[in-house]
Amino acid sequence: MRVKKVDLTPLDPKCLNFIHKKTEHKSGAYTSDGWMLPCCWLDDPLAWPDIDLFNMRDEELKVANNASLETIFKSDQWEEFFSILLYEPEFAPRMCHKKCKRKK
Ligand code: SF4
Repeated sequence: MRVKKVDLTPLDPKCLNFIHKKTEHKSGAYTSDGWMLPCCWLDDPLAWPDIDLFNMRDEELKVANNASLETIFKSDQWEEFFSILLYEPEFAPRMCHKKCKRKK
């Protein structure tokens, strides 16, 4: 499920900067309750409702339930999340628009 449209402005996702070999890369975050998230900005109670719409805190994605982080990073949930950031930013979490909106 996706969040409602909030902003049509494209994003420059800092969590995907490694693709373009940019220096300012935002790494994944390990949350205190046991999940990985694409970055620490999403580990915020204000962002959790949007994250839950992407099912990124499903039990199957809890770190303790996976043999490797790669399994989590290649999950359908994470792939859909990154696809939304790149190709349908209007459905991205509000926090992503706040932190990674493309500058003109
Ligand atoms: S706020 Fe969103 S777009 Fe920006 S680095 Fe974090 S997950 Fe990526």
